[in-house]
Amino acid sequence: MRFDAVRRWMGRARSATADLLFPPACIACSTQCVAHFSDLMLCDACRGRLPLIDWPVCTRCAAPVPEAAGVRLACNHCRGDRLRFERTIALGSYEGLLRDLIVRMKTDRSEVVAHTLLELAWRELADALRALPADVVTAVPSSPWRRWRRGTNPPATLAQRLAEKLGIPAATAMLQLRRNVPPQVGLSRSARFRNLSGEMAVRPTYHLQDARVLLVDDILTTGATCTEAARVLKLAGAAEVTVFVLGRTPAEQ
Ligand SMILES: [Zn+2]
Ligand SMILES: [Zn+2]
Repeated sequence: MRFDAVRRWMGRARSATADLLFPPACIACSTQCVAHFSDLMLCDACRGRLPLIDWPVCTRCAAPVPEAAGVRLACNHCRGDRLRFERTIALGSYEGLLRDLIVRMKTDRSEVVAHTLLELAWRELADALRALPADVVTAVPSSPWRRWRRGTNPPATLAQRLAEKLGIPAATAMLQLRRNVPPQVGLSRSARFRNLSGEMAVRPTYHLQDARVLLVDDILTTGATCTEAARVLKLAGAAEVTVFVLGRTPAEQ
């Protein structure tokens, strides 16, 4: 038996033992021993409670847009806006159980929540994700201090997984913060844009000649963070930027 075959066998034996000691449980309600759990550690009942997007949304910012008699009206959110990315694809609305799970994901060192939500996104949105114009996947940066304190960096984890699914390269360290940016929570919309302006950079080792970049974050609220990332990606040569997020805030916050 070749070494990697032995390693695979040991991995399977180890995970079978772990399943016996710690039966797979739904990440939301802890229901155990659901035979069909694989990468998607969610029971059907909890999956049914998630506010997954199945209503008309703005292709640019994924905000809900009204639709009257088949005519899609303009998006109030990005009319006359400063958003610098071309489109957004979101798994669900940032509320209810999806919000609870995304909040938990931010400090989940095991990364089970991140892997489950990405797997769910893939099952729900694979066709749309495969159709995106994307040459490389990257993630919004977080400060080294925050990564260390939380012990996890969900946007990078999601980006890495998504790149594997799409079969394109991941470059999760492409963007960096120039300083520790104060948290965006509690700031007004225009203050959020000001707070981030000039604070991100593309590492000089990356050359993005006309690359189409898929930018991953956990949630999109005003779009200020993704706009600053898109701005510097385009300065570095990116042709266009598509945003992927798990949660889109349902209304302006
Ligand atoms: Zn459940
Ligand atoms: Zn919009």
